[in-house]
Amino acid sequence: MFYNEPMTYLLRVNLDIDSKDVKKSLRFRNVLNGIRFVSKTNNKVVVLAHRGRPHGKENKLSLRPFVNPLSRGLGKKVIFVNDFDFPNIAKRIEQSQNGNVFLLENLRFVPGESRADKNLARFLASLGNKFINDDFPTSHRKNASNFELPKLLPSTIGPNFKTELRQLDKVMRHPKKPMVLIIGGAKTLDKLGVLKNFINKADSILLGGAPANTLLKARGVHIGKSLYDQEALIQIKSFVTKEKIVTPVDWEVSKGAILDIGPQSIELYKTVIERAKTIVWNGPMGKFEHKPFDRGTNALYKAILAQKEANILIGGGDTLRAIFQLGEPKKHIFVSSGGGAMLTYLSGEKLPALKAIK
Ligand code: ADP
Ligand code: MG
Repeated sequence: MFYNEPMTYLLRVNLDIDSKDVKKSLRFRNVLNGIRFVSKTNNKVVVLAHRGRPHGKENKLSLRPFVNPLSRGLGKKVIFVNDFDFPNIAKRIEQSQNGNVFLLENLRFVPGESRADKNLARFLASLGNKFINDDFPTSHRKNASNFELPKLLPSTIGPNFKTELRQLDKVMRHPKKPMVLIIGGAKTLDKLGVLKNFINKADSILLGGAPANTLLKARGVHIGKSLYDQEALIQIKSFVTKEKIVTPVDWEVSKGAILDIGPQSIELYKTVIERAKTIVWNGPMGKFEHKPFDRGTNALYKAILAQKEANILIGGGDTLRAIFQLGEPKKHIFVSSGGGAMLTYLSGEKLPALKAIK
């Protein structure tokens, strides 16, 4: 689609961003790109987005703080619509000039959005002619605006969503070998699906954080007060003897809990990374927010950065926070803007928002 037809496009984007971080935010950059791609002088664009998990209207989760940065970034004034009087909004859009960009207030202020309410979808559909979903990070959730709305209008995915899928498919189908999967962080259960799906695809799986603690415990290591997941421990039992799943050989401990991988583990993991042609990474290796427990994460990131020839995919909210602290990721790395959506896709599950379009 070239977006040159004179009509009104409904564009779902991801503004689930801390408004203090706007300038540095990958998601915000994506939003600007997405709107620029769709918005032309002879069409109108209505931007749909949510922020946080509000209960009714919550001022601190308003999308208003994005109006100025968006207007500045696009070089045209974005019109903010702060009510949900849909017949009236439709009239306003219809009577406005071509080239205009509207931003609707946080859709989750309307209870129907998170419940994937068909009536809300119908109201949204009344505002335009075509729907474009460019919000990859929300695509694993069924909302009115990304799951019901595409069933009512001609729909497609936007440029950022397309890029995410292309990069994810690159590691899912025919990845360059050897492929290494690195999994860390806190939410072990959320990552189990990826581990299961990659157990045969990947050549090595390096664990850190709570997933490592959980497997270490399953392997009979005393982990004291370390963070692990009981439910995952049961499910992970079959992984105990899999040699390609590598757990740390030493670790940093504070108050009886493992908080980072140790120096020998760093060296071991680095040798695997140095051989890899495909690298997929989600989840920090340790409690990186508290120095010195950021060492493992930082060291692996440095080793990954040095792999100029490898196909590299990194994602996850906290993982990005950890690596962005060390500067902008280099061009040869693809940074996914979605944590949960990326994990869902890498688990081999269908994304509901994508299914609704196809
Ligand atoms: P992501 O958002 O990248 O998917 P998660 O949300 O699963 O990652 O986990 C990130 C959190 O995991 C961080 O807050 C980090 O402090 C924590 N973490 C990592 N390793 C440990 C550990 N060994 N003990 C406690 N917390 C850890
Ligand atoms: Mg997280």
